[in-house]
Amino acid sequence: KCKASHKGFVVYDKTLNTHSIQRLNLMSELRSAIETSQLSLYYQPKLDLETNQIVSVECLVRWIHPEHGFIGPDDFIPLAEQTGAIRDLTKWAIQTALSQHKSWTEQGNFFRVAINISALDLIDLSLPAYVAQQLSELSLDTTAITLEVTESAIMSEPDQAIRALDILKRMGIKLSIDDFGTGYSSMAQLKIMPVSELKIDKSFVLDLATNEDDATIVKSIADLAHNLDMTIVAEGVEDKDSLEKLKEYNVEQAQGYFIAKPMPADDFNEWYSNSNY
Ligand code: C2E
Ligand code: CA
Ligand code: CA
Ligand code: CA
Repeated sequence: KCKASHKGFVVYDKTLNTHSIQRLNLMSELRSAIETSQLSLYYQPKLDLETNQIVSVECLVRWIHPEHGFIGPDDFIPLAEQTGAIRDLTKWAIQTALSQHKSWTEQGNFFRVAINISALDLIDLSLPAYVAQQLSELSLDTTAITLEVTESAIMSEPDQAIRALDILKRMGIKLSIDDFGTGYSSMAQLKIMPVSELKIDKSFVLDLATNEDDATIVKSIADLAHNLDMTIVAEGVEDKDSLEKLKEYNVEQAQGYFIAKPMPADDFNEWYSNSNY
């Protein structure tokens, strides 16, 4: 990478350059990371605000790199999307999450697993069949899984995305629009979107208890969703006052550090058995 200086010279920026090299290395390592199990899923519970029960668990990927250590998804999901490795990563996540769901079920706990998918997964024509095959291999039905797609992923190619979501919906898969409120979908698009759940972006939820504008936005999104027969999940719930506000607005589910952080499966199980849920 280089920058043009005001005199017309080209100045190489060492920082940027180092960054690009690191990115390149990570890109080529990501595929083998999937095969050599350097990736792992962390699990974060979603609380049903009416029953006060954990009803679902979001699955969030982490990369434990042999040299660089812990790498968060915001640092490698964009790379995986650029290289196309996201397709294999998503399939790995679906398989891993469903077998975790199965083992929870065998312990007597029904936690629907929510998996994040990217725009590229939506145009991957093999995805619906892959989900169906994994469910049938584990003798599970579609109530085991939710797929979360960000509003901006849908809006990058809305017509194509809606067609792909339609196929998944007709299979009986529950679909959720993630980061809702940040992706500029129109009312007309929202009306025809084949999804049953909206996840309000955490930027509107983090300061819900103290910021009047955020409270207005969250209440409006909740009313809108309910009028369209959709349910609402609020992410980024960090305090009790926010949780109470969400109950007031009839928001169905809450997720956030106030309830629990994303955790490896063993920690999740320990947290759950010590919790009041
Ligand atoms: P997301 O799907 O919106 O996930 C929510 C993010 O908010 C997670 O970050 C989670 O750890 C964080 N979070 C949860 N509760 C709180 C809270 O109370 N306060 C705050 N400040 N943050 C909270 P994480 O795990 O770093 O994931 C970041 C993003 O990476 C995810 O955003 C998702 O878009 C993407 N991602 C993660 N795993 C996958 C995956 O398997 N596939 C794909 N395609 N994307 C993934
Ligand atoms: Ca998500
Ligand atoms: Ca989100
Ligand atoms: Ca996000």
